[in-house]
Amino acid sequence: MAKIQISLCVVCLVCSLILNLLLVSNHMHVGGKWELSWSRKAAEEGEAAAAVACSGHGRAYLDGLVVDGSPVCECNSCFEGPDCSQFSPDCIANVDGGDPLFLEPFWMQNAARSAMLVAGWHRMSYAFNNQSLMSQVLENQIRKLHTAVGNAVTQGRFIVFGTGSTQLLNAAVYALSPDNSSAPAKVVASFPFYPVYQLQTDFFRSKDFQFQGDAYLWENNSDSTSNLIEFVTAPNNPDGQLNKAVLHGPYVKAIHDHAYYWPHFTGIPAPADEDVMVFTLSKLTGHAGTRFGWALIKDEAVYQRMSTYVKLNCLGISRDAQLRAYKLLKVVMEGSGREIFEFGHATMKNRWEKLSSALSVSKRFSLQDIAPQYCTFFQTVRAASPAYAWLRCEREEDKDCYRALKKAGIIGREGTLFGTASSYVRLSLIKTQDDFDMLLHQIKKLVAEEDDMHARSTM
Ligand code: PMP
Repeated sequence: MAKIQISLCVVCLVCSLILNLLLVSNHMHVGGKWELSWSRKAAEEGEAAAAVACSGHGRAYLDGLVVDGSPVCECNSCFEGPDCSQFSPDCIANVDGGDPLFLEPFWMQNAARSAMLVAGWHRMSYAFNNQSLMSQVLENQIRKLHTAVGNAVTQGRFIVFGTGSTQLLNAAVYALSPDNSSAPAKVVASFPFYPVYQLQTDFFRSKDFQFQGDAYLWENNSDSTSNLIEFVTAPNNPDGQLNKAVLHGPYVKAIHDHAYYWPHFTGIPAPADEDVMVFTLSKLTGHAGTRFGWALIKDEAVYQRMSTYVKLNCLGISRDAQLRAYKLLKVVMEGSGREIFEFGHATMKNRWEKLSSALSVSKRFSLQDIAPQYCTFFQTVRAASPAYAWLRCEREEDKDCYRALKKAGIIGREGTLFGTASSYVRLSLIKTQDDFDMLLHQIKKLVAEEDDMHARSTM
């Protein structure tokens, strides 16, 4: 009996060895090359969608509408038709939103390095193996990136991930607001400011914090015992300035929003070294749709409160988004970021120079001044390359600058939304090349009309 059992065991062992060998040989090296099996179909589908011809003015996506078994082109503004080849001549320039598609060509040039494939069973669990909601390798990658770019100190900092930095902005307000205070903390920002600070703070109608407007109004008050939380945005959205905190004092806390503190948009004079710093993948790699941001936090209690916020709000950030962010940051880090930042800065500088030059002869419109800045990353002085143009209509009759531009076929974002006068409009420079070309075209037309008017009046 014992003999039969031993022989059965030996047979089982041999069978399992053969099976494993078969499986391994099916998936592993054939002639020194990795032989694909289950992933091939996914790769083929991905490449088929990428190969759909959209005339360089659109893109087909794997999860887009499908016609005749093929994903359809989603066209850039001003282009239409099945392959996006038809230009709509009386199209308007829509430069309202902050979609960072200026980096799309970089990712297309780096298709092979940045593509990824997700297995059906990838990280199905709520948590990672160590019960964390955050990928340790992604956290390490973020720290390495900041060190390579030199734009933020990460030593002695905790990291919290967010669904975009949008989630972290309110998480930080919550974390910095005092518990059980008789009065809510006053949330402020120096004007012009990114409107979401107010919209979010108002939206939550908390008894612990309330939006109270322009930080400068509280400048002489910051020694009082009222709790103040200042949003400090550097570079600032909308005007690109490297803002510094306006308020200081024992009851003042700051949230430093560094969404644009990357060499695409500004020289990096020194690593940011503040107590609460918020960053986002959106303006670094352009992947706003991935919805991934992070905060670097000095104080452990603030870190705990922000972590609690994210945990209660959404049980951490999508594991798929974390995987994508990890992959993209790995590509960014190849060559220590030089490639993507060279590309980003060259694109943004070129756009800024073209727009500035078109407007340089105008008496009707002006742009913000942005001084060239020494960049420790590139080790040279870098010309201005802001994400947005903060345009001012100079004439009394153009007081409603948004309307004046809209009449001329340009949709920007009203200055009043940023807390300033209606004579300002923000024009986004980070959208597609088509969007920018259309903007430049309309601006040139406007400036030419100005010349004509001037010529007629001096006849
Ligand atoms: N901060 C600033 C200053 C921004 O301009 C933006 C996006 N426009 C954000 C934060 C939010 O970005 P996200 O949620 O995509 O990270």
